[in-house]
Amino acid sequence: MAIEIMCCLCNTPIVNGRGVVHVQMRDVECAKETERHHSDPHGMTLFELGGSPPQWRGVHFECAPGGEIGAYAIDVEELRSEHDLLKSTACLLAKNWIQMTDWAVLIDAYANGDMSGVFREV
Ligand SMILES: [Zn+2]
Repeated sequence: MAIEIMCCLCNTPIVNGRGVVHVQMRDVECAKETERHHSDPHGMTLFELGGSPPQWRGVHFECAPGGEIGAYAIDVEELRSEHDLLKSTACLLAKNWIQMTDWAVLIDAYANGDMSGVFREV
């Protein structure tokens, strides 16, 4: 199955070489900070605290000039198949901050055929 990646700004597909899927690392740092300050014996997560997790987004370079600065970005050409998604996910699982982001939500949405997500089956 091929995967189409949508730009969150113009809502059109991103062709190879024209964009990335990224998450802003300052959002990740902010989420870490929030969890640190609210860490309690119940171990509430950021989501339970009412915060929204740092979001992965698809963007065209031309829609968000400089948007990849300070972001962890994956080129769209590395996310074109389910095999690609597995490879990227395996790589991301090694990051200690991945659980703070909504990556799992994106993968879950794709796996469930949700056509409103970043990744769409074509
Ligand atoms: Zn765009």
